[in-house]
Amino acid sequence: MILPASPYFWLSVITIGATATFFSLIGFALFVGKRNIDRDRKSFPKFTLAIITTFYNPIRLLLRKFGKDDRIVQRIGVDLYNHLAEERYSKVPAGERIVVIPHCLRDINCPAKTDPIAGILCVKCNKCGIGPFITKAEEHGVKTYVVNGSSFVKRVVIHYQPKGVYGVACTRDLFEVEHAINSRGIPMVGNLLMRDGCVGTDVDWDSAMKKFTIGLPPIPSEMAEAAPETPAVEPATAETEAEA
Ligand code: SF4
Repeated sequence: MILPASPYFWLSVITIGATATFFSLIGFALFVGKRNIDRDRKSFPKFTLAIITTFYNPIRLLLRKFGKDDRIVQRIGVDLYNHLAEERYSKVPAGERIVVIPHCLRDINCPAKTDPIAGILCVKCNKCGIGPFITKAEEHGVKTYVVNGSSFVKRVVIHYQPKGVYGVACTRDLFEVEHAINSRGIPMVGNLLMRDGCVGTDVDWDSAMKKFTIGLPPIPSEMAEAAPETPAVEPATAETEAEA
């Protein structure tokens, strides 16, 4: 005769099943997410992102416990948010986009003052790459905010209500801001700093400009540069003058 299993037995089965599922999901998300980075074709992007965002803190704790760099979770998240938001971001017209750039990219002798809402008021002294970037963004008709931290970005977004956001930030800030803004239904894409830090950081400005301008028409000066040169007029010969 088969004895009915005790409630403790079923509790153990459920606990073991849940633990196995949890570790399988995390293992899957880390493996697939890492493989997806910088690939054009992503495997299971929505599913992977859902796991990463749902178990964000437990995954980071586990990785730290095993002595691993937990920023891989944020790196995977940024890659997937960029991928999933890019199409919607590309359709947002210039006047409804904003750019947010971290103040740590500034030159150490930056002369700009700070506004409590708009952030650092760059005077385009061009001691760092922010000035030239803002000039280009303005030519496209897009406003740029140089901000001090992720909470400042959220404040700027709540205040100015853009329809699309482009940002540059360190790994943790970019993931957390992309998560917060994309979760509000506003497409946000961005570029990671080449090295994280509080001062003297750097970004690949060409790559930043490329991603920021996705979907925007070229600015008039670029169109002029791209236009083919008018071919030189051949000097008229005696015969052609006689024919005329
Ligand atoms: S370009 Fe702007 S942000 Fe950079 S140092 Fe000059 S004023 Fe500061």
